[in-house]
Amino acid sequence: MRIHPLTGEFAQPANETAFLVQKLPQTRALLGFTLVFCTLFYLAFSVSDLAALGYGTTYLQLCAARTVVAATAGTCAWLAYHKPLTVGATRVVACVAEVVALACFMFIAVHRPDEFHWHAMSLGIMLIVIYLYIPNSFANALLLASGATVVFLALTLKFGRLSAADDVTMVMLLVLANAFGALAARRFNQVSREEYLARAQLQHTAARDHLTGCFNRRYLHENLMRPGQVRAPDNGGLLTVVLCDIDHFKRINDTYGHASGDAVLRSFADLLQRMTRDGVDSVVRYGGEEFLAILPGTDLDGGVRLAERLRTRFADTSVMADDGTEHVRTTASFGVACADFTAGAGDHVLRDLIAVADKLMYDAKRGGRDRVHARCACDHDAAGRRVPGLVNRR
Ligand code: GH3
Ligand code: MG
Ligand code: MG
Repeated sequence: MRIHPLTGEFAQPANETAFLVQKLPQTRALLGFTLVFCTLFYLAFSVSDLAALGYGTTYLQLCAARTVVAATAGTCAWLAYHKPLTVGATRVVACVAEVVALACFMFIAVHRPDEFHWHAMSLGIMLIVIYLYIPNSFANALLLASGATVVFLALTLKFGRLSAADDVTMVMLLVLANAFGALAARRFNQVSREEYLARAQLQHTAARDHLTGCFNRRYLHENLMRPGQVRAPDNGGLLTVVLCDIDHFKRINDTYGHASGDAVLRSFADLLQRMTRDGVDSVVRYGGEEFLAILPGTDLDGGVRLAERLRTRFADTSVMADDGTEHVRTTASFGVACADFTAGAGDHVLRDLIAVADKLMYDAKRGGRDRVHARCACDHDAAGRRVPGLVNRR
């Protein structure tokens, strides 16, 4: 995932969207907090209007402008906190609050023409808030902040009563505020995305087996066995597991060496992963040469078909021995178990199902290896009682 060198955001839109969606709760909280803060500060500055202008029509006009900003920012903060805003909606909310605040700021500046140097300072602070504290895209922040700077400088030249030297200083200051604001925003974007990538990498490493890329036992116990994790709403809440064990694997290690054994493990895992559905099924390296496929929404026949396809394909597959002289070939045995937990079976169902599949796999070993044994734990008799039935295949 490449990070764009200018914006600090992900170069690929799909990656950027995934990042923003994952960050959305924090984005909404930051947006709400910053806008509440801005609302209060904007209102507080009515005091400086009063000090500068005294009570009168102009003061009341400025007060109204400040109230418009406070009402807009307050409403936007409420939306951010209380409405399930999408990423796009948070951006619209941020832009609306910023545009209204900047427009009212210009209005106030024009009505206090003697204090353009103070206004410039306020704008400098507003620019930093736009670049860093109101969550928005880099492009939006840059456009709004630099656009506001240009408009403000035009107003300074038209309405301000400053010396030429002060005008130049003000331009320098605001250009500097924009430059540092943009650089800081870019750096902040970059750091948060690098942190996201590092966390994703860590999660991947913690969840996967290094040799085969399958999920590991830790992931099985900490995630897949957690309540509700493997339930498929479709197909009646069926769940099938396939436990696979490579036959006579120790002999491969003893005869051809561990590196050849590793290659056989990788080839088996590769076949199994290619035969299962991405993002629906889970393939776990259950033990040294044992693999578990968890197939939500799949019935017993579906599980058996998968196991049979895998069995025949694996038996036909040969892996080159580490020394490159011989082809290594072996078989595998399978236990397939299926359960239906639509009726609200307990969360131990997956553990129980694996135990059934394990027994079936050992039956397959005892039966001569290179075979599939399957059983449905959800057969019902005429009276509707559950009757576990054993179906031997092959
Ligand atoms: P069976 O047909 O009854 O399953 O016999 P088996 O030889 O396959 O089973 P056994 O449990 O006797 O041996 C499994 C072997 O798998 C023993 C262990 O050294 C080896 N093994 C476990 N993990 C790895 C690994 O990551 N790489 C390699 N090369 N071998 C491994
Ligand atoms: Mg074994
Ligand atoms: Mg084995």
